[in-house]
Amino acid sequence: MLQQTQVKTVLPYFDCWMKELPTIKSVTEAKEDKLLKLWEGLGYYSRARNIQKAAKQMMKKHGGRFPSDYEDILALPGVGKYTASAIASIAFNQNYPVVDGNVIRVLSRFFFYTKNTQSSEAERQMWQWAKEILPKGEARHFNQALMEFGALQCTPSAIDCSGCPLKLRCQAYKKGMVDRLPIRGPKKEFRNIKVAVAVIKKDGKVFIQKRPNSGLMAGLWEFPGGKAEKGESAIKAIHREISEELGISIKNVRPIKKIRHAYTSYKVDLHCFEADYDSGKVALKAATDGKWVKVSELKNYPFPAANVELIADL
Ligand code: SF4
Repeated sequence: MLQQTQVKTVLPYFDCWMKELPTIKSVTEAKEDKLLKLWEGLGYYSRARNIQKAAKQMMKKHGGRFPSDYEDILALPGVGKYTASAIASIAFNQNYPVVDGNVIRVLSRFFFYTKNTQSSEAERQMWQWAKEILPKGEARHFNQALMEFGALQCTPSAIDCSGCPLKLRCQAYKKGMVDRLPIRGPKKEFRNIKVAVAVIKKDGKVFIQKRPNSGLMAGLWEFPGGKAEKGESAIKAIHREISEELGISIKNVRPIKKIRHAYTSYKVDLHCFEADYDSGKVALKAATDGKWVKVSELKNYPFPAANVELIADL
């Protein structure tokens, strides 16, 4: 859960997950909708699936226990070098360094690294420094302290070095270059995407569909709709999308609200409409499942965050 997500966001999700699925075995037996519901709103949904794959691997290869060997941890689905090192050091106090954004900031200032920290050469150098400064037998506390030091003391901006215990040895501080480091490549531009979705009503129920099993937000449920084409208005887009995706027509289309949601590399303007079913028989094109449900039943299905906001309004 902590990959790409802050602790304070994770805590309620973690508590809820541990209440519902307290053992490795229970994770292996959970239905996909249940896993995704527990993950709803946390983003990067492949992590939930990877936890289940990893749990199955633990049942098969490690007698139902979490492995303590670094190579075994690294071999678990969804676990890369950073996560494996964090687990090996924090959970098992093994001598593995960790390098995250906070650590990169501290190291690049302390050692005065003046090149782009987003290159593979920089990555190698950061891991090498983190390994060299790791006090053997103290990895658990040292790694947590180093990450926390970056988060609380050696901060990205508004930095106050006056009380820093490292200032006499910190190269960036000595050279008066603290606020110039770390150096990063050019910022990626956010793409803006216009999406139209419709809450289609028929006989007191609304229509929802399930996203494909792979790709973005795989397996989550959503209201039907899609991307507007270049120059296309949201209202035109929703009529076209519903006809193309479901093979039905809708009437009395009225706007409800617009939701802005940011993803890793793009921002979505979600134009939400309410509409009445008009005619035709539903024939799903991309979705793997679709059904008419009561609004009160929507809480039983996992939805992407922007849809959750819309459901709260409904
Ligand atoms: S002196 Fe300033 S820049 Fe250097 S490690 Fe301390 S807080 Fe970071």
